Formats: sequence, structure tokens, C-alpha cells
Amino acid sequence: MRPLIAALLLGFALPATAMAQSVADLRNDAKTPGDVLTYGMGYNQQRFSPLKQINRKTVKHLVPAWSYSMASNYGEESQALVKDGVIYITSHDKTVAVDALTGKEIWKTTIEYPPETTKTVCCGIVNRGAALYEGRLYRTTLDTHVIALDMKTGKEVWNVKSSDTADGAAMTGAPIVANGVLVNGIAGAEFGVRGFLEGHDLETGKQLWRLYTVPGEGEKGSETWPNGGAKASGGSTWTTGSYDPDLDLVFWGIGNPAPWNPLDRKGDDLYTNSIIAFRPKTGEMVWHYQMSPNDPFDHDGVNALVQADLKIGGKVQKVVMQAGRNGFFYVLDRATGKLLAANNYVKVTWANGIDLKTGRPNWTIDMKSVIESASKISTWPSISGGTNWFPMSYSPLTGLAYVNTLDMGMEYQPLPIEQVQNLKTGQPHYGVKITNIYPESGNRGILKAIDPLSGKAKWQVPFKSANWAGTMATAGGLVFTGALTGEFMAFDSETGKMLWQFQTPSGIIGQPITWERNGKQYVTVTSGTGGVYVLKIPDANLAHVPPGGSLWTFKLMED
Ligand code: CA
Ligand code: CA
Repeated sequence: MRPLIAALLLGFALPATAMAQSVADLRNDAKTPGDVLTYGMGYNQQRFSPLKQINRKTVKHLVPAWSYSMASNYGEESQALVKDGVIYITSHDKTVAVDALTGKEIWKTTIEYPPETTKTVCCGIVNRGAALYEGRLYRTTLDTHVIALDMKTGKEVWNVKSSDTADGAAMTGAPIVANGVLVNGIAGAEFGVRGFLEGHDLETGKQLWRLYTVPGEGEKGSETWPNGGAKASGGSTWTTGSYDPDLDLVFWGIGNPAPWNPLDRKGDDLYTNSIIAFRPKTGEMVWHYQMSPNDPFDHDGVNALVQADLKIGGKVQKVVMQAGRNGFFYVLDRATGKLLAANNYVKVTWANGIDLKTGRPNWTIDMKSVIESASKISTWPSISGGTNWFPMSYSPLTGLAYVNTLDMGMEYQPLPIEQVQNLKTGQPHYGVKITNIYPESGNRGILKAIDPLSGKAKWQVPFKSANWAGTMATAGGLVFTGALTGEFMAFDSETGKMLWQFQTPSGIIGQPITWERNGKQYVTVTSGTGGVYVLKIPDANLAHVPPGGSLWTFKLMED
């Protein structure tokens, strides 16, 4: 019996939280397509929906239901959430609730941050989403506030400041609610910020714990840094981890060490470019796996961490997997962190594979020559990676991961060590010379359907400009994603055939979701160009893509 009916029959007033989202609601989110309560469309972050009304046959009838103006020319990277017929969406300067069926605004709560905040944001004035729990919406802000809003009114319930933005810290990622704690990360490795994860009390916002991702002097892991961790910095946590409530483990990707130049931090530099598993109640780290020790290439380990049950050697294993920015697709036992598979899914020249026994990359001569003699090399993938922050999806029906991959390399050389030895927090932490190498094909991005265990693509679709949007898979046999030139697209999940597209008003760098209401399926995505590719990489193909944020919802055309 639904709680509302039960309450009415029993004749007592409905408690304010009775219709809100409970622990069980969050846990079951992936299986309840009437709402989308979590970043990643489920704690496992598969971004897979069991809905199939919109499918290979019907998708040609998909039309816009409405669009809503985000009233901003900054990039729209946020994933929408849906609850009880209301869509919640975040951007850098506002949080908005709109009627899911009509697109009409219900409330809008603006965010003001000091203008100088944007000077120490390396890669786009953006926000990637919120968390919902018990009638409240939780999000972070560019100037490192963590806030709670009332979902009904948009009124602020609490607001706490985390860090000093003058030091280069920023927050752009969606928090998650895990085991009764709000967990959020921080950005700023490009300015030498010491990365961390935080747990906040859901009721009051009080900070419960902080887990630093690089060690302090003499702490565990400091032996992997020169000077015993005295200068350890970087390891930011700017995307969103996934949660396994059965294991009570949160999995989070940790970013690059600072500065990018590796010469003054020879060693593994834990826990940068790692996947870590920790207890959400306490922030206690349970295991870690490092993808790129002593990384010179900004191969941030923060890409989406998707959980799945995969058959490996005849046995079903609970895994967490990542299409790493360094070009390898990693599959780990998510209870222990043991590496099960690691194969390149794009062109990789810095390592000849990963040793499954030790988990360590086999460095190529090129890579060794960078670390040992500061040589200039041509290397793949580029600093943008084999893929970047925009999340992949995984379909348990096809067993494939759908990844917007990048096909770019770079000429790379570290500057002399003296130039990076006395950097202060808040200053840019680069110290390298980089020139991008673009592919002769003219296609900088390829949407790939990847077998997680081999890294091989079952199908692939090339794009002139690299897609910078998340993907979503459905039981209707579809994969949705967006192009920087504005097309919102659906592909056959088995063959890669493009079945539908719609031109939105700006480039798409957001994250599609799907949901149902009154027996009808809808698809929602943001349009609004921005983000690091558009800001930093010249691309003539994007000369005629105007800025301007909007939120779009699509439905099947009615007779
Ligand atoms: Ca749901
Ligand atoms: Ca980075």
C-alpha cells in the first residue's frame, strides 16, 4: 500500500517526510523508472533504464515535449533528477524545480559567489548535479559551499563553507547520500590544492569527517612522495563516486598529482590517479588501486565508476569498472580492489599494458624518458584522455559499456624542474609544454560500445568534434548521447546505427536521463555549450554553435 493511502485510511496527518525519498528508495532507484533520485540513475551509476516504450521501433516518433531556459551562457553539464512529477536541475548560478510534464518553473533559487572565484576554476564554470533525500536537495557551489534546499520551496535549509577559494579550491560535482551521510568532493589540482572527500550531517550540514587523498608529512602513503609528503598536493575529487549499500563502500576516482610536471615528485604519489573505496559513515579508506603512478599527463583518475555483475572465468563477480582517462578500461573486484582486467580501449603509447599481478603499468621507453630525462615525446592519449569526466553507461542486456572516447595525442615535454619547485597553492600547477596532435581522419571523438573485459569495441561511430556528453542505455535497445554541435541522438545499442536525432539550440555537454509518468516514457537532457574542450581546444567545426543553456524533455508523438 502506498504511504499516502495508508496515512489517509489510518486517519492521521501525513508526516512531512512520508512522501520523501527513503534509504530504500535510493537503493532501488535504478529499478524504479518513475523517478530518478541519484546521480548516475542508480547507486551503481549504470545509467541504464528498464524502460522500453521508447525503443528501436518507436524512437523515430520522439519529439520535444517542452524546453526551459537556463538563462545562462555557461556550460550545462548537470544531470537532472526527477521526483513526483518535478524535475530538479542545477547550474553554476541556480537550482531550479520545473513541472516535469509542462516545463513550467516551480521555484528557482539563485547562487551568488564572488566573481574572483572564477579565476581559480581551470576548466569551466559548471555544476554537475544534486542529491535528493527526505525532502531535501543537496548540492555544492563553485565557491565550495555545500547546501541543502527544501525540495518543495527551494528555501535554503543549511549552508556550510568547506574551503578557501583563494587557494584554488572549487566544487563542481554532485554529492551523494550514502548510509545517512552526504559525501562530496573538491576540485583544484591544477592550482595545487590538497584533495579530499568530506562527509556532512544531512540534518545540520556539520562536517563529520574529511579524508585527504594525498598524505600529510609522515602519514601513510607519504613514502610514495619525495620529502615524505611535505609537498604532496593534487588528488582532487571533482566527479561523483558510486555506492554499494551491501558492502557499505563508496567508490571514488581520485585526480592527478600537482603539478602536472612529474620531475619534483618522483614516486607513486598516492593516492592520486587511484580508485579508492571508503566507509561513508567515517571516511575510513578500505582499499585503493592506483592506475597511473607518478603521472605526468594529467590523466585524472576521476572518470565514472560503474558497478556491474560480470561473468569472469565462468563465475559472476561484483565489479566496479572505469574507462580510465589514461586509455585503459579497468575492471576491479569491488569488495577487495583486486584488478581483474585492464585493456586499452583507445590508442595508448605510455604503457605496454597493465600487469594483472601487480596492477602496475608496464611503462614504455617514451614514458621512462619523460620521467628520467625530461624528454620531449609524442604520446597518446592527450591530457584530455581516452575519455573525460562525462559518464559512460552500461547495459546489463548487451554487456557493453557505451563510452564517448577521444582520439587525440600530444607532443609533451616537462619544463626544467626549477620551474615547478617553488609553486604556491593557488598558482597554476602545470610546468609542461603541450601541443595537441589531431587524428588524420579528422574525427576527434568516437562513440564506442566496449566489452569491459577486452577493451574492444563491438561498434563505433566517429564524430568530427569529440562528444563531451554522458551516455545513457535503455532496455528499449537504445543509447542516447549528445554532440558538441547540438544534436541529441539515439543509437541502436547492438549495432551503433543512428536511429534518431534532434538539433538543440547549443552544444550538449550534459547527461541524459529517462523516466516515466502516467504510463508514458520521457527523455530529458540539457543543452548549453561550455566545458574544458570548448574553452581550451580550437575546433573550426564548432564555429557556429551559439552558447545558451536550456533543459529539454522529449516524448513520443501522440496521434
Ligand atoms: Ca528510480
Ligand atoms: Ca586535472
